[in-house]
Amino acid sequence: MKPTTSDPGIQFRDASVSGIAALNELFARQKSAQADEGIASLSVRRDRLKRTLDLVVSNEARIADAMMSDFGYRSPDQSFFVEVVTTAKPIKEAIKNLKKWMRPEKRSIDLPFMMAGGQAEIRYQPLGVVGCISPWNFPFNLTFGPLANILAAGNRAMLKPSEITPASAALIAELVASYFDETEVAVVTGGADVSAAFSALPFDHLLYTGGERVAKAIMKAAADNLTPLTLELGGKSPVIIGKDANLKRAADRILFGKMLNAGQICLAPDYVFVPEASLDTFIQELKSAIARTAPEDRGGKDFVSVVNNTHADRLRSGIEAAKASGAQVISFDWLTHNVGPNAGNVVPLTLIINPDASLKVMTEEIFGPVLPICTYGQIDEAIAAVNSRPHPLALYYFGKNDREAETVLNRTRSGGVTINDVIMHYTMDDLPFGGVGASGMGAYHGFDGFKRFSHARAIYRQSPFDIGAMLRPPYGQAFQRFARLLLKHG
Ligand code: NAD
Repeated sequence: MKPTTSDPGIQFRDASVSGIAALNELFARQKSAQADEGIASLSVRRDRLKRTLDLVVSNEARIADAMMSDFGYRSPDQSFFVEVVTTAKPIKEAIKNLKKWMRPEKRSIDLPFMMAGGQAEIRYQPLGVVGCISPWNFPFNLTFGPLANILAAGNRAMLKPSEITPASAALIAELVASYFDETEVAVVTGGADVSAAFSALPFDHLLYTGGERVAKAIMKAAADNLTPLTLELGGKSPVIIGKDANLKRAADRILFGKMLNAGQICLAPDYVFVPEASLDTFIQELKSAIARTAPEDRGGKDFVSVVNNTHADRLRSGIEAAKASGAQVISFDWLTHNVGPNAGNVVPLTLIINPDASLKVMTEEIFGPVLPICTYGQIDEAIAAVNSRPHPLALYYFGKNDREAETVLNRTRSGGVTINDVIMHYTMDDLPFGGVGASGMGAYHGFDGFKRFSHARAIYRQSPFDIGAMLRPPYGQAFQRFARLLLKHG
């Protein structure tokens, strides 16, 4: 149940904060409520998680409408799947496992204290007030998914959705205000200036999901408060298709990853390496997969538009530059021919064959329905090309050759990996999700997410016997014997 405050005058009604003073006051109210509450009990945390779940599943139609309004066109089925189904999943996972996650963890004791009855454990305790800045590509999923971990860990939360999807941000603010007291979870809406002020608050932890440029500004702002950060960023996630891969299956799955949300996914397959000898077959398989996935009579109903003009122009200019450079470019315009008068910014699915490595489509994250396909002779060439770029958020390998898969895994680095599919490692609740190097720092999801937003407090209970006395001066033979015993066996 949403708690009621004794003075309804201080109830945070519209959940939007514009002034920095108001922002600071909101933060102070959360901190003070957190201090009064102490460590949130299992039942309090469960109740907050259940309200989060209800908020998401009871509002699927409004969520789909908001997404439609923000994107121009976004398949309601896709919105239901990515914003409701896959958002409910981590919340349910947290409700189910919370009791187990909250249990203190016994740790082993060093000699000789072990023999004398010392006890050690870790208690996962709340950090306090956690900030969460989320991006526009999955506004609900990337707000309420992390919130499940933040609340499971017993924290209070302040959320800052992206201004690029204003209808979603407004709905998130409205729903959170109706399901939570502002001291439990509050939403701050506004542009980059509000976001910058938000990131300067002395949070006990700040989670930022978005691009590298803003991440650097956030890290600078967080440094002043020594606020610990989790940065969930992006990058160019490559696909390496091995020589013996099933090309039909690879085409189906890669296409799915590129068409979902029109490729506006941090984990989207960004570019593909295919053996030279398989190029033509792979392109044919992609064309067949497109015909199966997006038959003309669907009229693009399952499609998603590009979120705004700036991103659409960025993608179009990448395609034009590739054409101008002489690369083969194959576009599938008919995929989007009939999605309605407000289709928004339609960028057709476009394959770019063997683009030059200096083109923007090969140097910057694509984040849209454009798929460069590069060929290689030996797998080493594909590995070297991957390693010439910053570490990506994900890496995908298709093939049946376990030795080759191991070679790829051992000689590259990425946040996560899916073998013989794309994106799927993200959906496994028991796998940590996060980047490495330029694709981010820190990981969450499932128990790893619970731990991410908890303080692992080390607690040692000393043995009833005063064993340490032997280490205290004045030093003598007993000390020497004991210290040498520790040197040998400790
Ligand atoms: P972005 O970095 O432009 O903006 C994201 C958020 O940052 C917004 O809420 C915005 O208000 C805020 N912001 C903007 N300027 C700020 C500033 N100076 N200080 C503080 N906050 C500021 O990112 P985007 O375009 O919204 O998202 C695209 C990027 O996000 C891609 O690189 C993608 O790969 C990445 N991404 C990563 C994940 C992940 O989980 N790893 C998920 C989705 C997207």
